[in-house]
Amino acid sequence: MSVVVCSWGNVAERGIEEVLTAARAYSVAAGLPLHWAVAGMDRDAARALASRYGVAAVDAITHPKLQGFAPDALVEAFTQYCAKAQPALVLFNQTAASRLVAPRLASRLGAAVVTNVFALQHEAGVLQASATAYGGDTQVVYRMPSRINVVCLVPTTLAAEPAPSASEPACNQVDVDLGAIEERFKVSSAPKPEGPRLEDAEIIVSGGRGLGKADNLALVRDLASALGGMWGGSRPIVDEGWIDSSRQVGLTGKVTRPRLYVAVGISGASQHMAGCSAAKTIVAINKDPDAAIFRYASYGIVGDCLEVMPELIKAARGG
Ligand SMILES: Cc1cc2nc3c(=O)[nH]c(=O)nc-3n(C[C@H](O)[C@H](O)[C@H](O)COP(=O)(O)OP(=O)(O)OC[C@H]3O[C@@H](n4cnc5c(N)ncnc54)[C@H](O)[C@@H]3O)c2cc1C
Repeated sequence: MSVVVCSWGNVAERGIEEVLTAARAYSVAAGLPLHWAVAGMDRDAARALASRYGVAAVDAITHPKLQGFAPDALVEAFTQYCAKAQPALVLFNQTAASRLVAPRLASRLGAAVVTNVFALQHEAGVLQASATAYGGDTQVVYRMPSRINVVCLVPTTLAAEPAPSASEPACNQVDVDLGAIEERFKVSSAPKPEGPRLEDAEIIVSGGRGLGKADNLALVRDLASALGGMWGGSRPIVDEGWIDSSRQVGLTGKVTRPRLYVAVGISGASQHMAGCSAAKTIVAINKDPDAAIFRYASYGIVGDCLEVMPELIKAARGG
């Protein structure tokens, strides 16, 4: 019995250190060793990272069909691995790709599966997984008494904390038979992100429908530039074509966790907040004193953003 984190692709994948941290905490609480099953990954790089996060063993699954993102091969490889390793808990770093693999693996293992999980607890010998539901509108705690459970962890609200001391994880070679596997679909093209990412920004100024028209976005851009940050927006202004979808913050856009998030003319719908509520400080500018955004904001300015913004830009530029 063990807790196992399943990964593939790039060792430095965003969120993996947060997931290894949460996995270690759970494995300690449950009294189970922590394994990291890495499929087609650079095992030396995985071992180096594992040594910082208290992983007991790196289980390296190698096969020529495990290069890149190959969902059918990954499901089969992890199924064969779990059949031998018999883990109690199988964890994934939740990404668009892992959401294609984890539920299928759970089905093959006859396991319970929960996605959108942000916390794990070991309560009276049973796994409890806290997850968001209904597009981030609510939170739910699942009690999972099954013999084996599969969980996708959302890393955005987790912190990465290396173990107090480095360890020397074992490295096990795991052979799998993928001879009969033919991928049923292939990714023919995918966006190649260039330049700084909104998800990594420390300061973000976002505009919403309250800006009134696309031309007023110049104020959002100017404030972001004056504060040394990036700029984004809510979904309606993407739908209106004012900004590119790569700048959309929210449930169906980018999930960010900046130090400072300035929301300009944004109502604070839960689907928008799903992408910024992890910000350390939220500043809201809205003309409606009852706008939901003020429930999340540390600082709120009730007023017309077209009047407030020029003053803020002037102040941010030093008067
Ligand atoms: C499945 C699903 C997924 C979704 N995903 C996302 C997502 O990823 N991101 C997202 O943003 N939305 C998403 N939405 C849409 C979301 O529900 C809201 O409709 C959206 O966030 C509202 O955007 P908004 O705040 O810019 O506009 P509105 O809700 O129209 O709010 C505009 C605000 O501006 C204020 N205002 C108006 N004029 C001024 C002014 N002159 N000065 C100051 N304030 C002013 C108003 O008081 C109001 O509070 C999703 C919805 C669904 C159903």
